[in-house]
Amino acid sequence: MSEGTPPRVGVLALQGDVREHLRVLEELGAAASLVRRPDDLATIEGLVLPGGESSVIDKLARAFGMQQPIRDAITAGMPVYGTCAGLILLADRVDGAIAGQETFGGLDVTVRRNAFGGQTESFETALAVAGWDAPVRAAFIRAPLVTELGPGVRPLATLPEGGVVAVEQGRLLATAFHPEVSGERRFHERFLARVREARASAR
Ligand code: GLN
Repeated sequence: MSEGTPPRVGVLALQGDVREHLRVLEELGAAASLVRRPDDLATIEGLVLPGGESSVIDKLARAFGMQQPIRDAITAGMPVYGTCAGLILLADRVDGAIAGQETFGGLDVTVRRNAFGGQTESFETALAVAGWDAPVRAAFIRAPLVTELGPGVRPLATLPEGGVVAVEQGRLLATAFHPEVSGERRFHERFLARVREARASAR
């Protein structure tokens, strides 16, 4: 594969806001595809875990034989970007999971599901992100919060009240909010940069 070919990335398409991610990735010049079966993972260099309902995506992933292949891909160093439910699916530990809910894991954090109650269940806000000049327009929809970070995890964005809502650990990137619904592309760009680095280091 040559350096110049577009990054081949997939969006896990079992449930959730798959189309929105596909659109952003394609706008950024990636070759983006839907991932539903273990074979689909062999064709991609990076994976997006969309927002949706983490317990449903978990159940479907296990039903479709996707859980272990995705865990293996994460362990092998595939860049992954998770938004909202995708953050929950990447987390090693989940507070407020439904009975029997599992995650792919890999990200050394604890997340609290549905961390915002009542009127603030869904909201949009401008957030500063470490190292970026312009703030991010972030849409939170029944979002989780990162409540504990392992030593290798870097917080990228924090709410004014103090909750961590974007993190990075090696090639894993995750946000509690949905940049793909508010026209924000920089997180997807960052994910694609990780994909290019992973490609370069594999050569
Ligand atoms: N509350 C959802 C969950 O637990 C996440 C919501 C979202 O992805 N917008 O999976």
